[in-house]
Amino acid sequence: MSLTRVAVVTGANRGIGLAIVKSLAAKFDGTVYLTARDHSKGNEAVNQIRNEGLSIKFHQLDIDDHASIKTLHEYLQSEYGGLDVLINNAGIKMKDDQASKARPVINTNFFGTLAISKTVLPIIKPNGRVVNIAGFISAMAMKKCSADLQKEFRSEDITEDQLIKHMEEFVTLAEQGKHVQSGYADMPYGVSKIGVAVVSKILAKQLQNMGKKDVLLNSCCPGWVHTDMGGPKAPKTPKQGAETPVYLALLPPNTYEPHGKYVSGKRVQKW
Ligand code: NDP
Repeated sequence: MSLTRVAVVTGANRGIGLAIVKSLAAKFDGTVYLTARDHSKGNEAVNQIRNEGLSIKFHQLDIDDHASIKTLHEYLQSEYGGLDVLINNAGIKMKDDQASKARPVINTNFFGTLAISKTVLPIIKPNGRVVNIAGFISAMAMKKCSADLQKEFRSEDITEDQLIKHMEEFVTLAEQGKHVQSGYADMPYGVSKIGVAVVSKILAKQLQNMGKKDVLLNSCCPGWVHTDMGGPKAPKTPKQGAETPVYLALLPPNTYEPHGKYVSGKRVQKW
């Protein structure tokens, strides 16, 4: 088993994830894994980065596929005895963000992020760092939710089960066109990112309960970034979008905050 430190970035074959891998490859003291759901797209991206003189490795990971998550978990456990850094970057957004298409968006962005996190958090090593990419859209969607829902999402006591119930309920209602009358924002992508921000707060507490008191887990916003998802009008480059996620991933050892917070521009934001 190797004692090398190891960082894993999800959905890293393009966009912000690719830029995060490049930045980590230059700054992280250990092995960086570019993961992608598609082998050939992943290997293409790895070769592109290697051609720039940086050293990284590839592992397949589809966060919608439990078998794929399990395979990565077993690999990290047997090769490295765990992992040091996880950046949950993988995400999708449907064109026009229609309510009728809420299911895949909530499944990948919320349930996929939750699934990979729950699987690998037990093997995250001392001084580990977990970064979940939420986004400013989560705050926008929050403002469009009912006062009761906002109160619940903002509560320090919301549980994982309660949050899961809300995400499932949102999908069912959105498919019936009844989500707005029930108090949810008419923004499936935004609601999925509310889920990511709120679950980060919940997972941060779970880490403490596991005794992993020196592991930091936060959600963040990369800004509006020029990628396939962000579109050509976005002002930030993927390299700029990678700055806050990489900053959180590289918080030095024996740092105890931020933890369970939402960070934008390298600063904790009231959310
Ligand atoms: P892109 O659409 O450019 O890239 C998304 C990446 O996620 C791709 O590599 C895609 O893989 C991957 N992906 C999608 N589904 C899965 C899955 N099930 N398993 C593994 N990988 C998957 O998006 P961005 O780079 O712009 O966004 C990255 C993250 O940042 C997302 O979470 C997004 O929501 C968030 N964000 C982006 C903003 C922006 O302005 N761009 C603003 C705020 C947040 P494939 O190539 O196979 O499709």
